[in-house]
Amino acid sequence: MHILIIEDEKKVAEAVSEGLRSEGYQVSLAFTGEEGFFRAMSQTFDLILLDLMLPGRSGIEILTALREKNNVPVLILTAKDAIEDRVAGLDCGADDYLVKPFAFAELLARIRALTRRGRPDQVLRMKLADLELDCLTRKVTRAGYEIYLTGKEYELLEYLFRHQGHIVSREMLAHDVWHVFDRATPLDNVIDVHINRLRAKIDADSDNKLLHTIRGVGFVLKQADG
Ligand code: CA
Repeated sequence: MHILIIEDEKKVAEAVSEGLRSEGYQVSLAFTGEEGFFRAMSQTFDLILLDLMLPGRSGIEILTALREKNNVPVLILTAKDAIEDRVAGLDCGADDYLVKPFAFAELLARIRALTRRGRPDQVLRMKLADLELDCLTRKVTRAGYEIYLTGKEYELLEYLFRHQGHIVSREMLAHDVWHVFDRATPLDNVIDVHINRLRAKIDADSDNKLLHTIRGVGFVLKQADG
């Protein structure tokens, strides 16, 4: 369970993060609106804890942009006397709110409730052109023909699918697919080998190439002309 905390009050953010980690959650922190916006839009989280009063981009801006993209549960944090903020947040698609200062036990209860609610954004079948992926059976087909992938190739493809149309960096893949957090470990070659094998399997027999390398940046799964 991966939670993103977007909160500019470092002390609050770090205390909450420490508490959540001790409860077994994986936590990422963003201390500015810009950073929070970038992470929320480029990575996949199970829940986002969003302060509304942020420098740079406001929480409302982040929430509005996010809601055009997915249904990740968002719990907003508001100041005690900011009732309009709370209403605006809920209007913009927040799932719940907490008023600061809050008790940690209360936060935990809200998080459990929101993540238990089922995942409306949990897509079980994904499709791009004639490439299809079934997340339940882990079956992949291209133009109706089944493609046999190794476990890692499948995870890589599913990850690219979930970020369809967005560039995925080698660092994101190392972190999210290989679960290697120490960048001193040279993984780039391993990633490139897997990408090449995956590309050979999904794209070799089709004129419509879907897996593209963006030199010096990463990879993207999309239609060639899109
Ligand atoms: Ca704030």
